[in-house]
Amino acid sequence: MDTDQSPIKLGISTCLLGQNVRYDGGHKHDRFLTGTLGQFVEYVPVCPEVECGMGIPRESLRLVGDIESPRLLTTKTGKDFTGQMKDWATGRLQALEAENLCGFIFKSDSPSSGMERVKAYPESGMPVKKGSGIFARMFMDHFPLIPVEEEGRLHDPKLRENFIERIFTLKRWRQVCSENRTLGGLVEFHTVHKLLILAHSPEHYRKLGKIVAEGKKIPLQTLFDTYAGMLMAALKIKTTPQKNANVLQHAMGYFKKQLSAEEKQELLEIIHQYQSSLIPLIVPVTVINHYVRKYREPYLVAQYYLKPHPVELQLRNHV
Ligand code: SF4
Repeated sequence: MDTDQSPIKLGISTCLLGQNVRYDGGHKHDRFLTGTLGQFVEYVPVCPEVECGMGIPRESLRLVGDIESPRLLTTKTGKDFTGQMKDWATGRLQALEAENLCGFIFKSDSPSSGMERVKAYPESGMPVKKGSGIFARMFMDHFPLIPVEEEGRLHDPKLRENFIERIFTLKRWRQVCSENRTLGGLVEFHTVHKLLILAHSPEHYRKLGKIVAEGKKIPLQTLFDTYAGMLMAALKIKTTPQKNANVLQHAMGYFKKQLSAEEKQELLEIIHQYQSSLIPLIVPVTVINHYVRKYREPYLVAQYYLKPHPVELQLRNHV
């Protein structure tokens, strides 16, 4: 299935790449994004404030007014850039459709680029950290399926793994949509992602299985749209040690005949140690992958749960 070797394209707030586009002429370079993750993705930089016509340096901005529909004003002189920003963003979002983005990494706290908890100033009263940057809000509304995150949240190992798992899965989904948009293509995609989905949400796992099983009765466009929406919603739900342990035990069941009683006991102990937060997830996954290779178990060999992202990213190495 994974024959498309083109890089994963991610949108990114330009200042995170180290470019001096901030209001004060500085940047917010993030070394994990350019160094580690940068080896596996191609970034499409977007700086809403510069691209919509503001200079460098410039007066800083803030969100003012109704939290659901705030205005973008300069902090000292109160100049209103809301219309200019929205007009530019409408065209930029249309242009981004052609980029086939699999994710977007936003700069936190920015009144233009912040994804959530951006400080907003009501007409009266205290500021509240409940806003989204004007461009970020428009991006999320325009591309509801595309995973989004902020650079600060990506320093949390669990959020990082979740986001990267989603961008890799969306890339594979896009490949099916462009190369094999058939019921057979959907069945194949679903089959190799079953354990991955199960690790996030047993409820979505059941619902997605039902959609696929009834696929013949549903118009193809509706089928693909429904599946994609539910798939991305499922993967957004965080895995837990309990859910992962269930999946690992389920995978272990495929070796009922091959493993000795001692080997089964050892694997169960390793899964239990993972579940008790004594060892990272990579340990039981490595042991199961060892048995998958040794016994050439065809169902498990194809499961993306056992290889959802490049091992170099070390996303399952934390306790
Ligand atoms: S936070 Fe957004 S608008 Fe501000 S400098 Fe970075 S990319 Fe540009």
